[in-house]
Amino acid sequence: MQLYLYNTLTRQKEAFVPIRSGEVGLYTCGPTVYNFAHIGNLRTYIFEDVLKRVLTFNGYTVRHVMNITDVGHLTGDRDMGEDKMEAGSRREGKTAWGIAEYYAQAFKQDIARLNILEPTIWCKATDSIPEQIDLIRILEEKGFTYQTRDGIYFDTAKFPGYASLSSQNLEALQEGARVEKNPEKRNATDFALWKLSPPGARRQMEWDSPWGVGFPGWHIECSAMSMQFLGDQLDIHCGGIDHIDIHHTNEIAQSEAATGRKFFNFWMHGAFLNIQGGKKMAKSEENFLTLDNALVKRGIPPLAYRFAAFLTHYRKPMEYSDESIQAAKNGLEHLCNQVRELTDGGKSASGVVSSAHREKFLEAVNDDLNMPRALAVVQEMLKSDIPPSEKHGTILEFDRVLGLSLDQVDQREELSAEVQLLVEARRRARESKNWAESDRLRDAIQSMGYIVKDTRDGIKLLKP
Ligand code: AMP
Ligand code: ZN
Repeated sequence: MQLYLYNTLTRQKEAFVPIRSGEVGLYTCGPTVYNFAHIGNLRTYIFEDVLKRVLTFNGYTVRHVMNITDVGHLTGDRDMGEDKMEAGSRREGKTAWGIAEYYAQAFKQDIARLNILEPTIWCKATDSIPEQIDLIRILEEKGFTYQTRDGIYFDTAKFPGYASLSSQNLEALQEGARVEKNPEKRNATDFALWKLSPPGARRQMEWDSPWGVGFPGWHIECSAMSMQFLGDQLDIHCGGIDHIDIHHTNEIAQSEAATGRKFFNFWMHGAFLNIQGGKKMAKSEENFLTLDNALVKRGIPPLAYRFAAFLTHYRKPMEYSDESIQAAKNGLEHLCNQVRELTDGGKSASGVVSSAHREKFLEAVNDDLNMPRALAVVQEMLKSDIPPSEKHGTILEFDRVLGLSLDQVDQREELSAEVQLLVEARRRARESKNWAESDRLRDAIQSMGYIVKDTRDGIKLLKP
């Protein structure tokens, strides 16, 4: 069955055909690691995870690359403002390298708790500085760059079709770009490829380059690393919708200017998570909620958020509220109960999958990842008259896309909110190597009737 995906580049749903048959090169813009990811960021990573799982469900082998922006991303997207890593370093009294390492680990834990599959390749911007410099040199040789006192810039007027990804025209983009003024830029939309360290000042993260000591602009890392790790298998590139007008528009301009070829075929963007009546959740705002604050500390399992994300199509805004997350928690519990009933009496899955229901599920997810419809198919299947063992086999097949750990509903049921909080507190104690606290929490959990086992995948609780 054909997979259709909405392509921001053409503004329509298109039949997805990869460059090489059977394989997909997927690049997803990763986190800027100067703070925790908020649940808005995580909504985007859940959408991308569903995309990857749907591609796999369709039989494709996916080579997935995700970057970690650990350098040179300024507080304004347009090359002005403070360096986020250095600001994080001052805020917490750690080195910029320490900040990057800490928040990259925190991000990996967040995505693990949401059953987001790890990329095939993680790549850090700081590990690919030579590749970024090479790309800037090519652009320089081809005449797309100019130098100002603070860096090397890309001249957007030299790249025809600069605004093609954006739904705004070039004039509107330039108008937007004028907010942050840099009088030396030739065009308001021009962007930095390399920023020079200020004269006389030393930055924590800086490198030598043909233009002087400094650091790469933010956009160049994704162009350089996607080509470095995907070669010419540039099928799908994703991010949140805030990346369309600046980050991805600039990536396309500099990549296509350098290679003379089309960069990615498909561009996909997830809509925002909003809060308090339509306000975008942002790291710079006070409305910033992490997985821990919004869910775990309130005894709500992280997977309830994954389930919540499925209730709204990824291209529609999602509104966060205490009620909506509670409703998602109940929805997930209900689904787990339904699955549990199928295995009552210890019968395990037959492995038989109902092909008619699988077909309907595939039709839903292949229609631009329509998860609300896929969930309706799940309920239709569970309420149908096929035998329970076949329902069980089918739901586990669907779970390859859902990623709700529906094969583990039996273990999950037993954990009360109180035990979950203790498990979470212990995870944090171990993370900060507070062994005394970790032992105390282990004893507390065990006194509630569990055996605690520490495994490579985290804590496992067993019943004696
Ligand atoms: P950042 O760490 O700021 O680079 O953002 C990581 C990802 O989260 C990017 O793909 C952003 O487009 C996305 N993002 C940022 N804010 C939101 C939001 N409120 N809702 C959904 N996605 C977001
Ligand atoms: Zn990017």
